[in-house]
Amino acid sequence: MARYTGSTCRLCRREGTKLYLKGDRCYSPKCALERRSYAPGIHGQNRKKLSEYGIQLREKQKARRIYGVLETQFRNYFARAERMKGITGENLLQLLERRLDNVVYRLGLASSRAEARQLIRHGHFRVNGRKVNIPSYLLRPGDVVEVAEKSKESPKLIELMEKAAEQTPPPWLEYDKERAGGRVLSLPTREQIDVPVQEHLIVELYSK
Ligand code: SF4
Repeated sequence: MARYTGSTCRLCRREGTKLYLKGDRCYSPKCALERRSYAPGIHGQNRKKLSEYGIQLREKQKARRIYGVLETQFRNYFARAERMKGITGENLLQLLERRLDNVVYRLGLASSRAEARQLIRHGHFRVNGRKVNIPSYLLRPGDVVEVAEKSKESPKLIELMEKAAEQTPPPWLEYDKERAGGRVLSLPTREQIDVPVQEHLIVELYSK
């Protein structure tokens, strides 16, 4: 499976905003955007005004980078969102939120989506009691995500479970401390998705 292997912080600097891709580091003074709040590259400090297309493109790239999705897969989500009833942009964000890696992150069982992806690939989670090691697996209302029984003894997972127990997940999810897992209560509404993305710009970009 292809994946981005370049500098993670470079992505935030390119978008000019914190995308919170590195967990705890993002909240510390070590954050690269705090220290160098301009775009990467030799021309990074003399940014030009963006065209309408440029603004739309940056919005799409921002959404892709937040969720850690490559271009082809993002296009596929968009095509699926277009076929769904309702507002395409909101459908797109809803599909991205339903990914297993995002739900693990939202439940607080990983400090970033990238960490969630790695833990899922290593088989640390169960969905409705069955092993699922596919980060893009789409969850539905009623699905239960839990830490695998044998992983509950891992120091890393113990630390994450303790952190998750102290956090409040978004209203469309519920975390159960005893079971070290959570349930999808409903599909998220746009108001419940706190990502700094103007999805209508992505729709405009792909509608050209
Ligand atoms: Fe972005 Fe986090 Fe890196 Fe800061 S530390 S630039 S928020 S990934």
